[in-house]
Amino acid sequence: MRLLQPDYTASSVHEVCYGELWSAGVRGVVFDLDNTLCGWREDGLGEEAEGLLRNLHRNGFKVAILSNGRLSRRKNLLEKLSRLKVPVVWPGRKPWPWGFRRALSAMGLQPHEAAMVGDQTFTDVLGARVVGLRAVLVRPISAREHPATTPLRWLERLIVRP
Ligand SMILES: [Mg+2]
Repeated sequence: MRLLQPDYTASSVHEVCYGELWSAGVRGVVFDLDNTLCGWREDGLGEEAEGLLRNLHRNGFKVAILSNGRLSRRKNLLEKLSRLKVPVVWPGRKPWPWGFRRALSAMGLQPHEAAMVGDQTFTDVLGARVVGLRAVLVRPISAREHPATTPLRWLERLIVRP
């Protein structure tokens, strides 16, 4: 059960205490995409999310994206992330460790130097904890999501968010 508990929680990616993470030795942030940085299947990145990524870079953080989504049709989003020089790993197959390892190697960091920020316990938090990254659970941007996620949300509420 410990592996399902995040190290930190926040209401959104903008409320995460990145300064605290930096003080704890974190030098890289891996973001989930759908319902964390942007809406589910959205082909683009909002100004706020873009500003956050730029800001993290300016403050010395490395940043990567790890998504379980199929991104081949989301050309605008991929283009924007590539312009921001943010590596994107997909399909991430979270919670399996391989995607996390690829994101870490894209940033040139060890697991203890990185944090995973995502909206799902059974993919983002579990995978991060198994591989050894700090896990930050944020609230999903909206209720619109992949149908397969719905039963996992029930479990989340039962187990993690009583
Ligand atoms: Mg998500």
